[in-house]
Amino acid sequence: MNESILQLENVKKYFPIRGGVFSRIIGQVKAVDDVSFKIKKGETLGLVGESGCGKSTLGRTILKLLDPSGGRVYYKGNNIFETDKNELRLLRRELQIIFQDPFSSLNPRLNVGEIIGESLEIHGIATGKEKQERVEYMLDVCGLAPHHHRRYPHEFSGGQRQRVGIARALTLNPDFVVADEPISSLDVSIQAQIVNLMEDLQDKFGLTYLFISHDLSMVRHISDNVAVMYLGKVVEICEKKELYQNPLHPYTQALLSAVPVLDPDSKLERIILSGDVPSPADPPPGCNFNPRCRYAEKRCRQEEPELREINSGHFVSCHLVQEG
Ligand code: SF4
Repeated sequence: MNESILQLENVKKYFPIRGGVFSRIIGQVKAVDDVSFKIKKGETLGLVGESGCGKSTLGRTILKLLDPSGGRVYYKGNNIFETDKNELRLLRRELQIIFQDPFSSLNPRLNVGEIIGESLEIHGIATGKEKQERVEYMLDVCGLAPHHHRRYPHEFSGGQRQRVGIARALTLNPDFVVADEPISSLDVSIQAQIVNLMEDLQDKFGLTYLFISHDLSMVRHISDNVAVMYLGKVVEICEKKELYQNPLHPYTQALLSAVPVLDPDSKLERIILSGDVPSPADPPPGCNFNPRCRYAEKRCRQEEPELREINSGHFVSCHLVQEG
């Protein structure tokens, strides 16, 4: 079995709510609340959930692009959250991010060569001809022509811009990449091309991905394991096949029931979730899914369920799911 490259322990990210004349802190938005899991080297962990469930915030907190409110993230044995500025700068070479919107994440005033090559200079890795060769190599492996380095972001299509974003993320030869909804702003016809490119690059460079998406079909395609988030917490996590064949948490069951299936005889029941996602500033007591859960009972409104191992490697946080 591969060893873990990344281990999260009780990661929290709260945003303060300020109010009153003196703008005092009057509450907290618990965007990420006590999240723990491991990612093995070379695997892809899919992270799914509705908009606003905290998955992008978690991805950015792991990389310390947002200041954590608590917990630990171990990368190769070192706690990222305890690193100082210099140590973090070195870690940036190995931990990268691909952003959702390739247009707003690329500086329109720089050409593509400057965008991809910038980090090589910042980290003192390459300049001049060596930098140029590295940029052209990255363009080539990402499916663009080497001469594209002279062009500006607005001269590319959405799919090509995302290829530039991927080339930029990989130019320092990272080990671990957070892919934050990398296909959600692209046309459906382009999405599969980008996902296939990411898979090819994973094989070529031995990458580990945290693939954040609300598209369960794409997550099924690319992931080895899948974690489901609801209101800042992971409610289910296991191998991909197990999750899609045997979803145990009522929220996962509802999400999967909404995925279109090709079989016209499929008897899968569509589960419609009632109500809106509660505010993370004021989560309900007990299980935070209880206002929308069709199985909710008294205990669910009083006690928060723990994330328990129900079958080997299959973790679920629900009072009603039994082990074995
Ligand atoms: Fe539903 Fe209760 Fe399970 Fe929460 S603990 S998912 S409310 S059955």
